[in-house]
Amino acid sequence: MRRADDRPIFRFAPSPNGFLHLGHAYSALINQQLAREAGGQMLLRIEDIDVARCTPALEAAMEEDLRWIGFEWEAEPRRQSEHFEDYRAALDVLVEAGLAYRSTLSRGDIRAFVAEKEATGTAWPRDPDGAPLFPGRAYEAVDGDAVAWRLDVAAAKAHLGIETVAWEELGQGPEGESGLVEADPAQWGDFVLARRDVPTSYHLSVVVDDALQGISDVVRGRDLFAATSAHALLQDLLGYGRPRYFHHDLILEPGETRKLSKSRDDTSLRALRQAGVTAGDVRRMIGFEA
Ligand code: GLU
Repeated sequence: MRRADDRPIFRFAPSPNGFLHLGHAYSALINQQLAREAGGQMLLRIEDIDVARCTPALEAAMEEDLRWIGFEWEAEPRRQSEHFEDYRAALDVLVEAGLAYRSTLSRGDIRAFVAEKEATGTAWPRDPDGAPLFPGRAYEAVDGDAVAWRLDVAAAKAHLGIETVAWEELGQGPEGESGLVEADPAQWGDFVLARRDVPTSYHLSVVVDDALQGISDVVRGRDLFAATSAHALLQDLLGYGRPRYFHHDLILEPGETRKLSKSRDDTSLRALRQAGVTAGDVRRMIGFEA
């Protein structure tokens, strides 16, 4: 665990399921800039829990691209696929506290359930990412095969005696939220902690790793601002401290309103390099000194 007099610790935590693009370069470099300003340590974490999509070749390409743009990290990167037992231990804590339950409903089942509800004219609530909220424990089949572990968010809030969670936001949310931000994690419904095919989830593993690595400052894109309420809830349930958060701007394509995605190769750092763009050009394109 981190002590108050230690150096701040930052992490950049990409998922190697495609080539890095300008948006990742921006996130890496802003992490590095803030870490340097704070005299902090900069770590790299490989978020490769989806071992089918995150390949060693993509990870190697990712590290090469990061070095190319001048991102430097201390210590060996932590690779999530090598730490499934840590996530399992955290899941066990939640199961033993009676706050996690086995869910039998697949993504297809949930889609069908929601489509049926919406056919009668009532809009089904969505989470901040636009996915239909999970209907809840009451809709589980008693004897079906479990496909996932889910957090019972209402029970979790009651266990902690809270309605909302709060965190220190040094950047900004989509509505300009900053300072002490409060949010209700129930906006995510009973979110997934682990699946049958991937024995953890993004929310669980990111929270466990931020704690185990003693991260003091989470700097990441504004698209993950809303996820922070789920992360804060897990931190409180697992007895972890709370890092500070800095959610930064997203880099948009000129004239576009949607964020860059790894599936689009045109702005990948590789494609730019192959087209003769220099690392200095890339840094300038996203607002850093060459
Ligand atoms: N692995 C996540 C991503 O690539 C980022 C996780 C985080 O910074 O919390 O989008």
